[in-house]
Amino acid sequence: MKKAEDLKKSRYGRISSKRKFNEELDLSLAAINNMSNGKRHIFNVGDMVWAKTGKYPVWPGIVITDPETNKFSKNENMVPMLHIYYCNDAYKRNWIKMKQISKFSGKEEILTEIPKITTQISRSKLKIKWNQAVEEAECLAAMNKDQRISSFFANNFLASNSQLTNKAESSAGEKAPIKQPSMLEKNVGSDHEQPALVNDDSEDHPRNLIPELCRQFYANGWVTGTGGGISIKYNDQIFIAPSGVQKERIQPDDLFVQNLNGEDVIIPKPEKKLSKSQCTPIFMCSFTERNAGAVIHVHSQEVVKLCLLNPENEVKITGLEMIKGIYNEKKGKFYDNDEELIIPIIENSKYEKDLVDTFKIALKKYPSTSAVLVRNHGMYVWGSNWKTAKTQLECYEYLFKIAIFKKIHHV
Ligand SMILES: [Zn+2]
Repeated sequence: MKKAEDLKKSRYGRISSKRKFNEELDLSLAAINNMSNGKRHIFNVGDMVWAKTGKYPVWPGIVITDPETNKFSKNENMVPMLHIYYCNDAYKRNWIKMKQISKFSGKEEILTEIPKITTQISRSKLKIKWNQAVEEAECLAAMNKDQRISSFFANNFLASNSQLTNKAESSAGEKAPIKQPSMLEKNVGSDHEQPALVNDDSEDHPRNLIPELCRQFYANGWVTGTGGGISIKYNDQIFIAPSGVQKERIQPDDLFVQNLNGEDVIIPKPEKKLSKSQCTPIFMCSFTERNAGAVIHVHSQEVVKLCLLNPENEVKITGLEMIKGIYNEKKGKFYDNDEELIIPIIENSKYEKDLVDTFKIALKKYPSTSAVLVRNHGMYVWGSNWKTAKTQLECYEYLFKIAIFKKIHHV
């Protein structure tokens, strides 16, 4: 048996009053959403909220679709829930009961409406982090919904990277940072019913992927001399590598982000003096005309050699196993090894953007192709996602080497 004194004390207050405290908080949050006509506030994607999750303080967040179910609300007829990403919390997200959510107001407003939050925060170990989250939320609340969602992902991506740096520094003798509630931590022993928090796999985030892929392509000699480029679509946002830079040294915050209409959403800091890839019009053409998920542009010697050996406006390759790695966009399936692969060649131009018209013509004329070669220049290759685009790039490069060999040796 624990002593009565121990039972009285808990992280945020007295155990004996904890349940009561939570219930009162639910009622207070719900009351904020009740409008004067008796109806409840309706939430939508991009709305800012206050959300209460188990033992954590009431936290600011944003309603964003769950990437696994593609829904932002569920259980509408039973216990309605919304899918929330938390501010300043490394992409942590959760399904929260509607009764534990209220529409977002500023810090002053929520503390005035529910004064007991002041007490809760003042005792919380997460006090600093909470104040930073509220600051972030207040900035986001001033934006329109599209800007808000983009900025949220950008802020939290950069923050989660700097947290990794802090952890590395702390192991060198600095004071360890306050432990963040783990994204996968199960709330063993806690009395709330929330599902375990889930982490987004940030390794697959374009801000991590693009620098990594550029390093790989550079090592293969495909993007040397600042040539080439890459673009990946992610949650309807287009991430684009900068132009004219050392491709093997690109950093996550060097990337440009635009929407499908070509409007800038996030650009790198001005002091970086970066410009968006010259290939952007062709990238966008592949996204809109072919519904690509990723597009890669390489300045590879094999492509240039192959075009020198093929004065016609197409290359034909047959009889090789690796043809099976190429996707036939017209048939919606990968090629068989006994099929003929035909890849269009377009003529080079002074500026990359001037290739758009002939690129579009090639797409129309060759509905099966997933690549276009540019004579004396390089290749554009795309796929439904970055993996398919990368795999096909590797297969094309392999096939081109063999095709050059066969042409030179007449075999
Ligand atoms: Zn180029």
